[in-house]
Amino acid sequence: MRRSAASILDELGITDPAEIDVEAIAYYCNAIVKYAQLEACEARIVALGDEAIITVNERSRPERQRFSVGHELGHWVGDRRTGGFFCSVDAIETPRDAYFDPEQRANDFAGDLLMPRYLFEPRAKAGAINVDAADHLAVEFNCSLTATSIRLVQLGGRPAMVTCYDRSRRRWFRRSPGVPEAFWPVRDLQKDSEAFDLLKVRARPGTRSRPSLTPADLWIDRRDAGDYGIIEQSIVVEDGVVLTILWWKDERQIVDYEE
Ligand SMILES: [Zn+2]
Repeated sequence: MRRSAASILDELGITDPAEIDVEAIAYYCNAIVKYAQLEACEARIVALGDEAIITVNERSRPERQRFSVGHELGHWVGDRRTGGFFCSVDAIETPRDAYFDPEQRANDFAGDLLMPRYLFEPRAKAGAINVDAADHLAVEFNCSLTATSIRLVQLGGRPAMVTCYDRSRRRWFRRSPGVPEAFWPVRDLQKDSEAFDLLKVRARPGTRSRPSLTPADLWIDRRDAGDYGIIEQSIVVEDGVVLTILWWKDERQIVDYEE
């Protein structure tokens, strides 16, 4: 039977982020979690009748391991008729555009399990929509900054976008529900953006800019974007890869578009 992450958390009576123990939750769902050296994938799940074994890369950081367990549980609870999944680093956590992609569904399940709406949303709405706020929530929920940033943009209740670029291209992005689908982030980083500077000076992972008001045309690919402002905060998440949260604190660009 297919179950949602919310229903499992409800059955377990979880009321605080610190209580979200992924190994215990996996056990509750008849899955055992093991840690091992994996060569070809980041995590996998193998079903044996009504039970499953989840194996996670023992060399990964704890917050990524947690997300991997959540991801594999998503396959197990959502797609359990099939025999097994072998999931790459890229499949886990990286947003995908195909709505029916089983990897995206597994990631959505992991987000719902590790950062459930009823615990995450009140905290997200109480703070700013930027990297600093995402970082605080990432610590509280014991998740990676990338996964938490996506959740903050989804549930923060204000118009925002999270983007990820490397030196040559835009890797992915996500809009909050309030941002029109006609708003696309630029294909290539613009020279005056903080994100561009961080990559240019080859800043180390963890280095971040301060939240700052910048002209929206540095980020949003629309002819009149230069008339508006947007708050940018960027952070290097791995060598040569920068994550940026954009926040329309002043919503004029969106209001004007909708009129
Ligand atoms: Zn997967």
